[in-house]
Amino acid sequence: MRERKMCWWITEKCNENCEYCFRSLSSINKFNFDEHMKILERIIDFGTDQITWSGGEALLVDHAPELIKYAHEKGIYNKITTNGKLLTPEKIEELKPYIDLVALSIDSFNDETNKKLGRGIEHRKTVMNRINHLMASGVKVDINTVVTSLNIKDLDDMGEFLRENPISGKWKLMTFFPVREKALKNKDKLEISDEEFLTEVKRIIEKYPDINITFMMNDEIQQQYPGVRANGDLLVTRDYNDMIFGNMATDDKIENPFEYDKKFQKVKK
Ligand code: SF4
Repeated sequence: MRERKMCWWITEKCNENCEYCFRSLSSINKFNFDEHMKILERIIDFGTDQITWSGGEALLVDHAPELIKYAHEKGIYNKITTNGKLLTPEKIEELKPYIDLVALSIDSFNDETNKKLGRGIEHRKTVMNRINHLMASGVKVDINTVVTSLNIKDLDDMGEFLRENPISGKWKLMTFFPVREKALKNKDKLEISDEEFLTEVKRIIEKYPDINITFMMNDEIQQQYPGVRANGDLLVTRDYNDMIFGNMATDDKIENPFEYDKKFQKVKK
């Protein structure tokens, strides 16, 4: 059981343009390989046992595979969350020895919905292709789906596909999280109530008992685990408060977020 999980939003750049995206566009990544290695060493020194490589699109960082390889050699469980565009069969082969889990983001198997969501009309085809290659390569695959008013009626199609084409990991359904940037701007257009979300999720779980389905509400999404932003800021969100612990590139001393969390949980009891 991994207890010390860290998310690294290594870049805010992305090659998709999702309507619900809440990545922080002001946190610009300007780091080269050596600077990223320094940040990675510090992440490992905290006693981290899992890194989720995310963004933006983490694979837009050219030297990301080298960092991932290094983390693997240090015993880290590597998970990549990706929209799949850059995860070509060649890239899968390159990363395969160092990657434990790939979480592919797809919200609908309807091309028109994907277009409306800003993912593009080719997204379904790309993700299906990546699922096939990952499964054939023996890499564990999760599917991440953000549920909004635009795709809440599309979940059956996805369920049918996953029933016919089982993946090795989970299908994770997450509620839309209108927290900042574009997501906040599109709140009225995309938001669904907790009740709508839970009713639909329950129906889908009952309809597809053979698929490993999990779901996440807003409070869990925002409090998952500490994260490092593209600009190096170390962020912990607890009780809806973002706290910056310091900058991993420039600050000499930063409190260990996992130790902080133990204290925080104790105070709450
Ligand atoms: S949600 Fe993910 S894939 Fe979509 S624009 Fe944001 S970072 Fe890119």
